[in-house]
Amino acid sequence: MIRLPPLPTIQEIIRIYGLSARKKLSQNFLLDLNLTRKIIKTAGNLKDCCVVEVGPGPGGLTRSILNTEVEKLIVIEKDGRFVPSLEILSDASHGRMKIIQGDILGFDMSDVVPPEYTCQWQDNTPNIHVIGNLPFSVSTPLIIRWLNSISTQSNLWSRGRAAMTLTFQKEVAERIIAPPRSEYRCRLSVMCQYLCNVSLKFSIPGKAFVPPPKVDVGVVKFVPRREPLIRQSFALVERMNRHLFHHPNKFCFKSLGTLFPPDREDLIWTMVELSGVDAQIRPFELTNEQVGQLCNAYATIIGQEPDILTYEFRSQKSAKERRQKVTKVLALEQRL
Ligand code: SAM
Repeated sequence: MIRLPPLPTIQEIIRIYGLSARKKLSQNFLLDLNLTRKIIKTAGNLKDCCVVEVGPGPGGLTRSILNTEVEKLIVIEKDGRFVPSLEILSDASHGRMKIIQGDILGFDMSDVVPPEYTCQWQDNTPNIHVIGNLPFSVSTPLIIRWLNSISTQSNLWSRGRAAMTLTFQKEVAERIIAPPRSEYRCRLSVMCQYLCNVSLKFSIPGKAFVPPPKVDVGVVKFVPRREPLIRQSFALVERMNRHLFHHPNKFCFKSLGTLFPPDREDLIWTMVELSGVDAQIRPFELTNEQVGQLCNAYATIIGQEPDILTYEFRSQKSAKERRQKVTKVLALEQRL
């Protein structure tokens, strides 16, 4: 087993290189190596694995990854200030670690993970794992992008059902795993759960980070499903959820109404009939399977009337608001 040689502590690295945390990049460092070890244990057995770490910063989690039998570690860090301190780890890693300075948003991880790690989608998960103490500012847009990639088996997921162990603000973590009827149930819950098995492994108090964020943090593991629970395009599922959860506590037919122009209310009832979902259930009570039934019904309607897909409730609403505003201004002008 390869172990890292004695190295300066992360605190010393931060001091030597003057690595003060930058708020703009949501930098909150985890310096407690017991916690970084716990996160890595959560990821599972990394023996012979290729790991991609997002946002290594000064390298606390990175050290714990290198202290496993990981075969290859690729770290992707936006802030160039960390590169010299990461190079110390890379030099000590017996050639296992590669540093990439770049922005993870828009980065194709399949460009850096060698093809020999590939498994077929229907096989067990490949020896590839994504790990990150993610910056809060990018964690939600990033997971949405990656879910989209999972749905099309692109980006890293062209190499198989690579699992992810990631940190989120505790409340976001609660939303990701929320079952039907939970107070946290929302669009993000369905989007994550229809494509992945998700589990909240443990929480870390905000005070464990430097500087401490105002919120606690949840460690979530994602394992892509062999078969998604909803068999429609990511864009359609996303659109359905956006409309459904606009009013999570109102009856479903209210939310479904926002998918159709006001003069096509009949389609709400067509959709209810086709899906078999009770119109008086509330969106936060819907199971992932019921959302799937609604998506299938919507796809059938769009198949028959493609123009429906271009209807945008919000722009209709803002057009109405604009008209109201113009009327008000005209009335005011008349009074003057
Ligand atoms: N992994 C380190 C730890 O646990 O102490 C640092 C975690 S800190 C919350 C987030 C890290 O992500 C920072 O190092 C920050 O520079 C980096 N980061 C922020 N935005 C990024 C992006 N778009 N792409 C890659 N790295 C990013």
